[in-house]
Amino acid sequence: MGKTDQELREDLIRVCHSIYQKGWAAANDGNVSIRFPGDHILCTPTGISKGFITVEDLIVCDCDGNKLRGERDRTSEILMHVMIYSLRPDVHAIVHAHPPVATGFAVAGRSLDKALLPEAIVNLGAVPLASYGSPGTPALSEGMRPFVSEYDAILLENHGCTSYGRDVWEAFFRMETVEHLARVTFVAEMLGGAKPLPRAEVEKLFAARPRYNVNSASCMRPGMPLVAEDPTDTDL
Ligand SMILES: [Zn+2]
Repeated sequence: MGKTDQELREDLIRVCHSIYQKGWAAANDGNVSIRFPGDHILCTPTGISKGFITVEDLIVCDCDGNKLRGERDRTSEILMHVMIYSLRPDVHAIVHAHPPVATGFAVAGRSLDKALLPEAIVNLGAVPLASYGSPGTPALSEGMRPFVSEYDAILLENHGCTSYGRDVWEAFFRMETVEHLARVTFVAEMLGGAKPLPRAEVEKLFAARPRYNVNSASCMRPGMPLVAEDPTDTDL
């Protein structure tokens, strides 16, 4: 059932092309990585469009982010990937992109914290907002660090979103769920307000995870996600 290295490289490239086609990564934005056995990290380099990248462009770094193999230069955002892998032994792939609606929430200083869609609750619980840090500096990782162990997707203030999972497809589909949740939340607010599900329904969804083979670090915490019974001062 295990994939060969070459198959994993091809999966990573397919995810990059999808990210670009979906409009989640303008110009050279975004980066994707897969952790191989031996803690080697296969990742996209800096300065290349995810729409046109090929297997030959990929590089390999060690678990500290130092480049081991590949022609191209590493991305400075490798530090974020290294930090997530170090805190989450269960994670084997990371997707970082700038999907425009989710990034709109991050720019507005808003997390995606309401219990609105069953699929988003089952797969993500809620999506917190990490405080701003300059891209490519340790400050970016530091803002995310408090959330990495407890969530599987994180909005980055005034920047974008990072998601991760057991393989690169799980990380990619989590990003897709974040952007879908952001779009639906935005539309609901335009229509007069997004109404969260009641607590009992949200608890049922968290309990249903094994049935859907969902392995998520998130769980029900006060206000994350926000349920119908929770008081809210952001009622719109
Ligand atoms: Zn970025």
